[in-house]
Amino acid sequence: MDGARTRGQPVALQAVATMVRGPGPQAVLFIGPDGVGKTTLALDLAAGLLCTAALADRPCRDCRACRLVEHGSHPDLHRLGPVGPGRQVVIGGPEAKYRGVRDLISDLALMPVEGGARVAIIESADRMNEDAQTALLKTLEEPPSGVTIVICADRLARLLPTVRSRCAVIRLGLLGPRDIEGILDDHGLADPPTAARLARLAGGRPGIALAYARKPEAVLIRAELTRLLLDFTDAGPAVRLTAARAAIPRAIMLATALATDDQALARSSPRGRRRGGATALAQVGSELEAGPDTGADGDADDLVSTSVRTPATDRRRGVEVLLGLWSDVARDLILVGAGGSRSIHDTVLIDELGATASGVDAADVVRFLGRIGRSAEALAANVSPELILDALVLAWPGRRAAA
Ligand SMILES: [Zn+2]
Repeated sequence: MDGARTRGQPVALQAVATMVRGPGPQAVLFIGPDGVGKTTLALDLAAGLLCTAALADRPCRDCRACRLVEHGSHPDLHRLGPVGPGRQVVIGGPEAKYRGVRDLISDLALMPVEGGARVAIIESADRMNEDAQTALLKTLEEPPSGVTIVICADRLARLLPTVRSRCAVIRLGLLGPRDIEGILDDHGLADPPTAARLARLAGGRPGIALAYARKPEAVLIRAELTRLLLDFTDAGPAVRLTAARAAIPRAIMLATALATDDQALARSSPRGRRRGGATALAQVGSELEAGPDTGADGDADDLVSTSVRTPATDRRRGVEVLLGLWSDVARDLILVGAGGSRSIHDTVLIDELGATASGVDAADVVRFLGRIGRSAEALAANVSPELILDALVLAWPGRRAAA
C-alpha cells in the first residue's frame, strides 16, 4: 500500500492491504497502546476501501474519494469518538446530548452518498460503556451492505467478549525511534535533533511524538514534572504530599496537550449529514453550557480536595499522565544506575538522573515500578486520583543516608 500514511507496523499494514484488495471482514478491531497509530491505520483502510483508483493502487491519495478522506469530509466515512466531560463513547440517540452509537447506526442505515463502500471508524472504543457496546452488536454482526466497521481501542479487556469475537483483531505495537523520527519528518514538524529527542520521549508512540512536536510547551511541562519527581527523593513526606497535589494542574495541562484521540477527531470531525455538519461545534457549545463535571464519578475526597473546582475526570487524566511519566523516570533511573543511558527517555535530564540514581537503591525503584502498575489499575477502577497519588509519593524511594 504505497499510499498508506502508516509507518512501521508492517504486519498490521499487510493485513490492511489484504482487506483493501479482497472481500475483507465487515468488522475490524485495531488494538494497541495510545498514540501508536491506530487512527492513522484506520484512515488508511478507509481511504483504501473508498478509493476509486485501480485496485492495486488503492489508496491512490489522488482521486476525489481519497482527497475527501484526507480532508475529513468524505460523506461515506463516519467517525465516532469520546465526547463530553467524561470522554466516553456514548449510546446517543435522537434525544441525547451527544452523538453516539445509535446515531452512527442510523447513519449507516441510509444509502451511500457516493454509491460505493462505506466505512465507520469508532475511536477509543474501550471508552464505550456496556449499553453502548451492546447497542452496536447487531450492526457488528450484520453491517448494512458495503459497510466496514473499524474499531480502535487501547485495551482489549475493556471490550465485551461478544464485541471482540465479531471482529478481525489486528494488533499494533510500539515503534522504534527511527520510524518515529521518520513520521516527524513526514509532517515537517521537527529538525533532526529535536525529532531524535521527541522520538525517545514518546516511548514508541508516534502520536505522542507528534503531540510534543505540535505543542513544545508540553516538552517543558514534562521536564518540569520529571525534575519534581526526581527532587522528591530528597524531600520529606509533608513536602512530597503538598507538592504532588500542587502538580496535578500541570499534569492536566500535559494530558490535554497529549490527548491524541481528541486531536485526531478535531482535525476531521464526524459530519452528521442530517445535522448540518456542525456536530463538533455544537458539542463544544453544550459542554460549555453544561459547566464543570461536579464529581460525577464520585470521588470520596471531592470535598477536601484542593482542586475541587477541577472536574474529576480531568484530575484522573492528570494523575494518569503523571503515573506514566513516573514509570518512565523510574525506568530511566534503573538504566542510568546500571550504567546504561543509551535508551533513556529524556537525554536532556541525564545529569539529574545520574545524580539521583547514585543516591537511591535500585531495588526500591524496581519495587516502586510494580506499585505504579497497581496504582494505574486502581485509577482505572475509579479510586480517587488524589489518594492514589498520596500513596505513591510516600512510597517513592528516598535518598540513602550518606555513609
Ligand atoms: Zn484514491
